[in-house]
Amino acid sequence: MRNKIYVLKFGGTSIANIKRINYVANRIYSYVKKGYGLVVVVSAMGDTTDNLIRLARKINPCPSEREIDMLISTGEQISVSLLAMALHKRKLDAISLVGHQVGIITDTKHTKAKILKIKTERIKKEVNEGKVVIVAGFQGMTAHNEITTLGRGGSDLSAVAIAVSLNARMCEIYTDVEGVYTADPRIVPAARKIKRITFDEMLELASRGAQVMQTRAIEVAKRFNIPLYVRSSFNKKEGTTIMGKIPYIEEPMVRGITLMENEIKITIRNVPDKPGIAAYIFTQLASGDINVDMIVQNISHKHTTDISFTIPKSSINKVRKISSRVIKRIGAESVVTDENIAKVSVVGVGMKTHPGVAAKCFHALAKNKINIEMISTSEISISCVVKKKMGKKALRILHKTFGLGKLSG
Ligand code: ADP
Ligand code: ASP
Ligand code: MG
Repeated sequence: MRNKIYVLKFGGTSIANIKRINYVANRIYSYVKKGYGLVVVVSAMGDTTDNLIRLARKINPCPSEREIDMLISTGEQISVSLLAMALHKRKLDAISLVGHQVGIITDTKHTKAKILKIKTERIKKEVNEGKVVIVAGFQGMTAHNEITTLGRGGSDLSAVAIAVSLNARMCEIYTDVEGVYTADPRIVPAARKIKRITFDEMLELASRGAQVMQTRAIEVAKRFNIPLYVRSSFNKKEGTTIMGKIPYIEEPMVRGITLMENEIKITIRNVPDKPGIAAYIFTQLASGDINVDMIVQNISHKHTTDISFTIPKSSINKVRKISSRVIKRIGAESVVTDENIAKVSVVGVGMKTHPGVAAKCFHALAKNKINIEMISTSEISISCVVKKKMGKKALRILHKTFGLGKLSG
């Protein structure tokens, strides 16, 4: 039996200015009047986190990750306190807390820390005293009192992890769109809102670029089977439920299409073609905590080969350092970086039982003269790397090709 606690999370655009904070405060007010215990997790206002990172890079192009965390964790401290003040003005008892006050304990990986545990005593005490507890998302603290952050979009993870640790009745994610769509509705106007989606499909959509939910937040929700409700903070329309099982008669073949524009392609040229080399390269990258996505090795000629892979743009400085060390060690020729790429992905669990999805996808891109530079597939997704300027067009074409604009959820 779940506790009578609601966890609500409001993203950056939802609290971007005073007007929006007041609007959110009014919505919180209506929950309190229903008699629920309330924990509200908030992100930093508007583009605060991006602006702080820009500021850091003006001072030092390669800032230390510890200091980045010290800086960007301040964004959420501003929004929690302002929201608490807005609730006080409405005569509601509310208290704002930052990560270490809540007791969100993480590992030591600055800028992408993992939550190890949440000490719930403080939150429970405040909720039991009838207060609305407003928690700064995106941050935690190591066992040695160092401030950490949880990776971009990490307030989603804070909300889900808190909901799990409180055994909350509901975790609602308030954002600037009405739910999860078949594609980013800002790029594909024909995209349709999805009424219900499984954790597995949402996980794949999120990890392939549907930024509406952070991937790690979905992983945690799935592990603890806590349903999420994604909805708009701008109106009261129905949103999307993300849940474990949906009693489909027939699973939809394709659920959604995603676009990722923040990856870089790295190519290591003239790598000696012998056993153990790939293992060495990717072990070095893994030990630098680099998330490698697609990997392609070209056909070997004259005992050497080219290895290409994609990485998040944010890892580029680290990857440059690691690869220049690696190429010296293995005797490869050079490292080439290509920022001019975008990745489009077709996602759906029904793909497992429907052959021909890949062919249909490649055919649609070819017909529109969009060249595919890299391909990767999983059981429930197909991803293609294309030139950056073709990314949005490819997204719209694939959305249309798979008839998603006509679905109603
Ligand atoms: P928040 O600040 O509330 O966390 P985000 O900017 O992180 O909001 O995520 C919401 C954004 O995700 C939307 O504005 C939308 O442009 C984008 N988005 C990308 N793919 C999708 C999708 N499939 N469905 C809904 N939104 C999506
Ligand atoms: N403010 C953080 C970010 O911009 C966390 C979040 O928005 O969820 O990534
Ligand atoms: Mg977000």
